[in-house]
Amino acid sequence: MPPPDFHLDHALSDWPDYTLELRCPCSPRVTFMPVRMLAERGNQPFRAVLEALRCSTCRGKPAPVHLIAGRSRTFMGGASPDWALELVPAPNLPHARGAAP
Ligand SMILES: [Zn+2]
Repeated sequence: MPPPDFHLDHALSDWPDYTLELRCPCSPRVTFMPVRMLAERGNQPFRAVLEALRCSTCRGKPAPVHLIAGRSRTFMGGASPDWALELVPAPNLPHARGAAP
């Protein structure tokens, strides 16, 4: 499946069936945020949502962040998503290497 024509200025409601996949350098944990759920809290452009994202553990900015199709993806070895787009690049930290698809 080819990547859809995504843009950061698109509103959340344009992509209700996708999921944001968040990682943070402070932890190997992966957080999934369904776009539909985010849109119900306030329909903003993706750019604004990404700027406001904070890690629940360290309050830093999560990275990398991917927009994915399907919700079954898990960190390291889980099923691959149908499609994934990197919205925030992975930081250059040892344990983050190789985490990107
Ligand atoms: Zn963190």
